[in-house]
Amino acid sequence: MSGKSFFVDLTLCTACRGCQVACKQWKKLPAEQTRNVGSHQNPQDLSSKTIRLVRFNEARDEKGKLNWLFFPEQCRHCIEPPCKYVANMYKPGSVIQDPKTGAVVMTDKAVIRKGKLESWEMCPYNVPRQDPATGLWSKCDMCLDRVEMGMLPACVQSCPTGTMNFGDRADMLKMAYDRLAEVQKTKPNAFLADPEDVRVIYLCETAPENYHETLLASAEQRKTIMANKATPPKSSRRSFLTAALGKKNEA
Ligand code: SF4
Ligand code: SF4
Ligand code: SF4
Repeated sequence: MSGKSFFVDLTLCTACRGCQVACKQWKKLPAEQTRNVGSHQNPQDLSSKTIRLVRFNEARDEKGKLNWLFFPEQCRHCIEPPCKYVANMYKPGSVIQDPKTGAVVMTDKAVIRKGKLESWEMCPYNVPRQDPATGLWSKCDMCLDRVEMGMLPACVQSCPTGTMNFGDRADMLKMAYDRLAEVQKTKPNAFLADPEDVRVIYLCETAPENYHETLLASAEQRKTIMANKATPPKSSRRSFLTAALGKKNEA
């Protein structure tokens, strides 16, 4: 499979947040008013102004040792993006996929009346966010403008530790599997998160729930969305999606 991919080696991330700041800087996104809740993570969630977020979590490993884990989260640029099928049901042209890189891009057509669509209903990773003032949905676009000019995405360019890598998909997959084999020598539970389904491949050293609930997609949810990507009857779009994803929404 061609196109581009990221390899994100979470075993190297120091949570410096250079990537989070570089993303805001390149995308000209403003700062947000936040408050201290006793964690270094700031802000507490993704938003239309923070499309890349370094999540912090404390968890005990299999031997009971306390670990501080960091998860720089962004859109995964799914190979078959559920958001493209679902958002385009509401507004055609809301989400497009660049044929050369595989980047999944939300366009300025992605303005959907508030309350009609939830992030979980179109994304198994709960990534897109809606601007409450304008109704515009947004997320990471792979820094497609930079990539088309032969530059690295801003988050990759700024990363000082080698956590963030970007390049041709075959090269990134090879790098990911090679590094996985290396890490597994000392951390046998290490794994790659959904490597065959997405273009942002995370190498994790411990159980997914130790990072964040959105580290892995719900396979059931992805299957449900994709199995019904042929547009359901217009009148039943909302009820269909709510019923299909009800379990997740109730959580
Ligand atoms: S810049 Fe690199 S090391 Fe720093 S938080 Fe981002 S991914 Fe982690
Ligand atoms: S690729 Fe660009 S838009 Fe996406 S998270 Fe990185 S810096 Fe932000
Ligand atoms: S992670 Fe979510 S927003 Fe990104 S391409 Fe996949 S479905 Fe779309």
